[in-house]
Amino acid sequence: MNLENETDIGKAAESPGLPPLRFSELLEKKVILQDWGEYEDFFRFSSNVGKIDEGSVLVKVGNGFELIQGFPKIKRAIMLAPALKNHFKDIYSVAVEEKMNGYNVRVIEHKGELVAFTRSGHVCPYSSERSGHLLEHDFFKDYPEYVVYGEMVGPDNPYVPKDIYGVDSLEFFVFDIRSREGIALPLHERRELASDYGFTQVELLGEFELGEAADRIREIITELGKKEHEGVIIKDPSMILQPLKYTTSQTNCADLRHGFRFYNESGKDYLFARVVREGFQSVEWNESEEEIKDRCLRLGESIIRPMRESILRVQEGERIRDDVRIRVKDESTIDRFRMYLERLGLDVIFSPLERIGDEYVVNIRKMNKSTTDKTLGIIEGQLWS
Ligand code: ATP
Ligand code: MG
Repeated sequence: MNLENETDIGKAAESPGLPPLRFSELLEKKVILQDWGEYEDFFRFSSNVGKIDEGSVLVKVGNGFELIQGFPKIKRAIMLAPALKNHFKDIYSVAVEEKMNGYNVRVIEHKGELVAFTRSGHVCPYSSERSGHLLEHDFFKDYPEYVVYGEMVGPDNPYVPKDIYGVDSLEFFVFDIRSREGIALPLHERRELASDYGFTQVELLGEFELGEAADRIREIITELGKKEHEGVIIKDPSMILQPLKYTTSQTNCADLRHGFRFYNESGKDYLFARVVREGFQSVEWNESEEEIKDRCLRLGESIIRPMRESILRVQEGERIRDDVRIRVKDESTIDRFRMYLERLGLDVIFSPLERIGDEYVVNIRKMNKSTTDKTLGIIEGQLWS
């Protein structure tokens, strides 16, 4: 289906509320992009357009179109106590959910199949297949107007593999249910509904009066940090105010360890922000000299050790890469996923598939050409700029 004639464009422009001419212009400028192959019914917004968030998706449904809002950005508290006081000043209590470290997907049913979109609004063939096995389909029959948001977590994860959650393969942890326009269900209503359909959910760690919340969250964060878990999302139980996020020092350091292995590919803002957070947390928590020393050591090790490993690797003639793994039931998902990654511009090598029970496991090597080349240059005497 291509939006070539005026009738189609007129119909497509209706749901996001854009004038047809503006819609055509956005298509031309590739701000609105049609997905490809079997996913031609989906058009994603590659940047914000008025009130439509980046990552929103326009879906062709029957003769018309429907807009599915993207997942809104969650702002971060850097100094917890004053941030909570400011942000949630008009409410009595806040709910604290675990922030799980995986990747964000949103799922709808389309033509009888579950379809999973990544944050940017791409249909991910792997996540779609997994969601199809992990989520109860009846939910989507009973509530076709709702979108289920969750974190895909576990080791069989092509984007953010983690072994820290006791998940064997990959699990879908629901953290939000929203209407297609993006209106979130209140937290307790959402948790109840998710539980009615047997969905796995992020953990609710407590609900606290505003006055005591910062202290309670600090205790929670200290415990989560010991397990290298990521942190918390602090929510208005009615889901009217926007949530805030707050993370553990250990997860900042884990991000830095990963980021510095591929130092030439990691965004500088991404790395810098993680260092700044450490400074503020150390002051807010009024740390002793010993705690400060520990933090300095942890931070420094997360930067220097992974870089040393990368440099040594290249010196030994190896190329820098990130190894991940997927597990599928349907063999055809592997090729579809490979094509998807290649279209995103990733340089990937897929291992031969291995059959385990009724599933297939494939190792994927994501090559970091830029960091490899930069490192090779430097050890051969190239100057930094
Ligand atoms: P942004 O800052 O734009 O929200 P990001 O990818 O930089 O996005 P993160 O720092 O990972 O964000 O924090 C937000 C993400 O946390 C959400 O997009 C979601 O995928 C994830 N998340 C994990 N657990 C939860 C939860 N309990 N509630 C809401 N989001 C959660
Ligand atoms: Mg995340």
